[in-house]
Amino acid sequence: MLIVMDKSAAADQIEAVAELIRSMGLRAQVLPGSIRTAIGVMGNVGYVDADQVMLMPGVREIIHVSKPYKLVSREWKPEDSVVRVGDVPIGGHSSFVLIAGPCSIESDEQAIACACEVKKRGAAVFRGGIFKPRTAPYDFQGLGALGVAILNEIRKNVGLPVVTEVLHVKNLELVASCADMLQIGTRNMQNFDLLVEAARTGLPILLKRGMSARMEEFLLAAEYILDAGNSQVVLCERGIRTFETATRNTLDLNTVALVRELSHLPIIVDPSHGTGRASLVKPLSLASKAAGAHGVMVEVHPNPTRALSDGQQSLDFERFKELASALGF
Ligand code: PEP
Ligand code: MN
Repeated sequence: MLIVMDKSAAADQIEAVAELIRSMGLRAQVLPGSIRTAIGVMGNVGYVDADQVMLMPGVREIIHVSKPYKLVSREWKPEDSVVRVGDVPIGGHSSFVLIAGPCSIESDEQAIACACEVKKRGAAVFRGGIFKPRTAPYDFQGLGALGVAILNEIRKNVGLPVVTEVLHVKNLELVASCADMLQIGTRNMQNFDLLVEAARTGLPILLKRGMSARMEEFLLAAEYILDAGNSQVVLCERGIRTFETATRNTLDLNTVALVRELSHLPIIVDPSHGTGRASLVKPLSLASKAAGAHGVMVEVHPNPTRALSDGQQSLDFERFKELASALGF
């Protein structure tokens, strides 16, 4: 529920309404707007006596938020949110952002070569995993703690902000020490403890859609992060499981266009995991931009045939250059 205050409502009237809400056993969040202030009501205990609220001086109207998610909805916040990764803005009217790098950080040479190349072609943020969620326990699991120095070198010497995945709460501090943005992967989208603890670091969060998550579940996962006090969330559509096996996943661009309607949060697309094929990354990147995405995140490797993970969907430098130019960089 949103309580919209009169344009002329005084600070003590706003506080009195917030206090009334708290006395009902609920949480009140004051949301100052450019024209008037609203008060968001949250909490799962307590009954809201709307008539009593309407009688308070300065109250203009009450809006019932119709969706199960609130903080992420456009009803709650009509204007687009802009999330900052280092000094790179994502969302709203900011320019389309290109995030690129290898699936996994494999070595200093591989990562630095990749970072320099993607920066040269227009990428604003570097990606690369040091903790990798692999389907098979025998596959490369990432460099772990050994990758921290490499990511910090890229941040410092190449000069790109870094997004990297955190798999487990126990590694949050380590990952936060080498990241400008924390990635929560598809397999952890509903790991609610991880969402809340990651939110509490205060770093921006890249939340990837669960491979079998409906859009509403995706937005509710983001709601956990905002509810934990961190509004710096970028959503990422990365494809879902369907009956189709010709591609690794089915990239659901419906979600991009619909999220733009239903939520104020920025949304980007990962066409590398979304298709699983390097040859499809360019067309689906262009389609993502056309559908309203605020950016794309793609996997790039100096030698995809030798990559320790996701080589089949990784672009070599030549293909990445073509992609960047097709996107107007
Ligand atoms: C990745 O970005 O390398 C990754 C593992 O992504 P996802 O969680 O979408 O599979
Ligand atoms: Mn990958």
